[in-house]
Formats: sequence, C-alpha cells, structure tokens
Amino acid sequence: MDCKEAQRCIHLFLKDELDLDTAYQFVEHISSCSECMEELTVEYLLLEGISRLENAEDIDVQSELEDRLNRTITRKKIYKQLKAGLFLVGSMIVCMFLLGGV
Ligand SMILES: [Zn+2]
Repeated sequence: MDCKEAQRCIHLFLKDELDLDTAYQFVEHISSCSECMEELTVEYLLLEGISRLENAEDIDVQSELEDRLNRTITRKKIYKQLKAGLFLVGSMIVCMFLLGGV
C-alpha cells in the first residue's frame, strides 16, 4: 500500500469500515510511514476530539491509536490461526475418512 492509498483509508479505518486485509495493510504502512501516521493522528483528533470535548472526556491520542492499530494486528493473527485451525480440522476429517474407508 502506498501513501496515497493509505491516506484514503484513514477515514474508513477510524470508522471501522475497512475489511480486515485492507486494515492490516493499512496498519503495516502506517507503522513504517511517519507521514501517514501523522495524518492518522490528526484525523483521529478531529473525529474523536470533537465528541470527547462535548462530553468533557480526556483524550490520550497516542495510546488510543496504538490500541486500535494493535487490535487490527491481533484480529488478523486470530483470523490466520482460525484459518490454519480450520485447515487442520479439514485435514483430520479427510484422514479419518481415508482411514475409515480402509
Ligand atoms: Zn505513507
């Protein structure tokens, strides 16, 4: 993913409207590109800051953003494991079927 694409994704990411694969690519780009990270921080502030101000809540942009980025990575990992798990179960069923057929 390049900067142009990443910056198009910022808004969608903050609204949780990216699919997992795109979100993961986005996070990967963001963590290695300070320019887009800055853009994301600003967008987050604009989006969250306004509603927080209305509710007079504290806002810790840095850690909240980190949290969001980490969550995407975790979700991707779980998804991968899930897929690997399904593959394992699938192979086991095939094995059982083959063994049972002998
Ligand atoms: Zn970038």
